[in-house]
Amino acid sequence: MNRREKKVEQYDVVIIGGGAAGLTAGIYCGRARLKTLLIEKSLVGGLATYTNEIENYPGFPDGATGTDLMNLFQKQAKRFGVTFKLTDVKGVHLEGETKVVETFRTDYHAKVVIVASGGKPRLTGAKGEDAYLYDKGISFCATCDAAANTGKTVLVVGSGDAAIEEGMFLTKFADKVIVSVMHDTGVMDCNEIAKNQALSNPKMEFLWNTMVEEFRGGERLNSVALRNVKTGEITDVTVDSCFLFIGYLPNTEIFKGQLDMNRAGYLLVNERMETNLPGVFGAGDVCDKFLKQVATAVGDGAIAGYSAERYIAESEIVERQILCDGKPKAVYIWNAVQPECRALLPVFEQLEQECADCLDVVRVDVYKSKGIARRLDVCEAPCTVIVKDGKVEQRISGCGITKECILEAIR
Ligand SMILES: Cc1cc2nc3c(=O)[nH]c(=O)nc-3n(C[C@H](O)[C@H](O)[C@H](O)COP(=O)(O)OP(=O)(O)OC[C@H]3O[C@@H](n4cnc5c(N)ncnc54)[C@H](O)[C@@H]3O)c2cc1C
Repeated sequence: MNRREKKVEQYDVVIIGGGAAGLTAGIYCGRARLKTLLIEKSLVGGLATYTNEIENYPGFPDGATGTDLMNLFQKQAKRFGVTFKLTDVKGVHLEGETKVVETFRTDYHAKVVIVASGGKPRLTGAKGEDAYLYDKGISFCATCDAAANTGKTVLVVGSGDAAIEEGMFLTKFADKVIVSVMHDTGVMDCNEIAKNQALSNPKMEFLWNTMVEEFRGGERLNSVALRNVKTGEITDVTVDSCFLFIGYLPNTEIFKGQLDMNRAGYLLVNERMETNLPGVFGAGDVCDKFLKQVATAVGDGAIAGYSAERYIAESEIVERQILCDGKPKAVYIWNAVQPECRALLPVFEQLEQECADCLDVVRVDVYKSKGIARRLDVCEAPCTVIVKDGKVEQRISGCGITKECILEAIR
């Protein structure tokens, strides 16, 4: 299809990714009455739908299947009017006030984009792997699947911090945890403390210089063939489950060059889930974060949804009341809990009463919302910003502001 023939649709917010983070952001945006679109390329519910039992999500004391839990999230998002489209986001243009999210048939224009595209565990690429992923024996999450391996024998692949720490966690449930390490005896990628603890753990056994050659079994995995990288010898190890901890790949390809990321490709966000670009937020596993779980994805999604609503509300104030044509503006950036800021309020009341014909007064309380001050490049209150012809002319910081100096500034 010719690019010119593409349809264009407008939204307040477009959310990329329909996992726990995206769905939660949708609930918050929809409930804030923002026109919200959620785009998901495969399964609404995301990674959580790959697990049979989620036992650690609060509020479900008897556990819930990932699919059931995510269906509830989706139902709630739909209740608040979120629109769903099942398609792949192919590209994005995130700089500027109007963000563009491209799919095959349609370009979506939005004031805010929330990136909740998650990630995927890295696979070994060995023979048979696809047949045993997730509930067939190959797992990627010890926190999630350890209890199901109580009294069993499991294989852990990898020797980084995640592999060894998750492996040690598994020894609390499994009878035996065999670890396949591709390096020479005693050489591991994890930190020294974890390494020493693991080497002295009686339930852990290490197979050095090995890599997965093949995953074998019937309906379910029952053995893993390991190849010795030095001798080429193949050893068939009988196991109940195999845990792969050889890395995780964030779904951030389409954002490269636009959004800041760490070396592994995870989005860098602050505590408000803001990325480096105004109006673009990240949430969930796609972000550089300490714990990747449904509960933390939900927290991120809530913050991103709330931040989106604040961003749009603040943009409207900036556009309609501050950086707009008309009379010059005296924008008083103040903090309601600071006495020195409150002491200056009469100056602005007097200006409003006596000079309404030549200027508009706008008060911005940073105690309630810091976003507008940030957009006007003001870091500290009190500060008076003088705006003429829709442009910031002057910033006057401190408590020494008077009616006369504001009138002088607008002349
Ligand atoms: C096997 C397994 C078991 C787990 N068990 C548990 C558990 O018991 N408890 C727990 O708390 N956590 C568990 N987790 C972790 C949990 O599933 C994740 O932390 C959580 O799902 C992350 O949610 P998210 O929304 O950030 O990302 P995801 O769930 O990964 O969702 C991202 C979504 O974005 C979509 N997407 C990506 N790119 C695009 C694009 N270009 N266009 C459109 N859509 C796109 C993807 O298709 C995906 O659906 C488990 C993970 C796995 C793999």
